[in-house]
Amino acid sequence: MNNDIIRDIIKDYDKKRLKSKSDLEYRKKELYDMVPELKEIDRKISLVSIDISKYTFSKPEDYTKKISKLKEELNLLKNKKNNIYTKNNIPLSYLEPSYECDICNDTGYLQSGDRCICFKQEIINQLYKMSNMEHMLKKENFDAFNIDIFSNSVYPGEKLSPKENMKNIYKESKKFTFNFNKAKDNLLFYGGTGLGKTFMCNCIAKELIDEGYTVVYQTSFKMFEVISNYKFRNNPDDEMDKINYKLLFDADLLIIDDLGTESANSFTKTELFNIINSRLISGKSTIISTNLAIDKFSINYTDRISSRVLNNYTACKFYGKDLRWER
Ligand SMILES: [Zn+2]
Repeated sequence: MNNDIIRDIIKDYDKKRLKSKSDLEYRKKELYDMVPELKEIDRKISLVSIDISKYTFSKPEDYTKKISKLKEELNLLKNKKNNIYTKNNIPLSYLEPSYECDICNDTGYLQSGDRCICFKQEIINQLYKMSNMEHMLKKENFDAFNIDIFSNSVYPGEKLSPKENMKNIYKESKKFTFNFNKAKDNLLFYGGTGLGKTFMCNCIAKELIDEGYTVVYQTSFKMFEVISNYKFRNNPDDEMDKINYKLLFDADLLIIDDLGTESANSFTKTELFNIINSRLISGKSTIISTNLAIDKFSINYTDRISSRVLNNYTACKFYGKDLRWER
């Protein structure tokens, strides 16, 4: 199933490259029809270039002299060509292939052999489509945020009304996205269900995805599944397991939704600490949403985890009447 995604993406890359090749052929034909002289010059350029490389390899007698003569010839041809381009108002790069991604030239790979960032982004896009996230983000974004559904009356045990409180959280979330590449902030959304935590996570996700950041959204349950699939090699041939796992560390923003609903044990605690800590060290932002109260959070997780979170995350408490937004 997962490898199918990768296979499809690779096919798309092949198509992209074929298209850029055929587009180039088309432009070339058009240009040669318009200025036949250019075809002749390009033919000569390629012949001279072949001779240069032949001499470079076979090193015949007097080859340095021969090569420098050929290079002179090549320069003359290129100048002639450039003049024709300029005279006809053709951009000099007109017969260069144009790629969607200048980093990998639409191969999906870097020279190091790693996947290009555009490939990883494509996987995230596919995962969003599969997880219905794309559909969700159309409905749940800052533009759709309606402060009026929150109550104006002071909530028992709290200083502010849910409406005033949400205004603050909204501002905090906006600030988070606005300063995203500078501030390296993290957010902790906590409070009961149906108060808009997931909605606010989606607003932030949408904003940053639109700005081109890699955003990974996982419920904590799913996140630990991703981790154990990778760590225990549950699907040995599945490249997606590795990519999904790496993205928990590499994504510009990781959103862990519903932390506390997983069955906590020493494995999940170790892995959670590893992710939170690595992301703090590499300066990557994380948002955690949880139904646990702060004191419960500290009890459920180790001191190492709760101190990292409480010291490095801006905590936003959600309270009020259950809005059942998250249903
Ligand atoms: Zn690329």
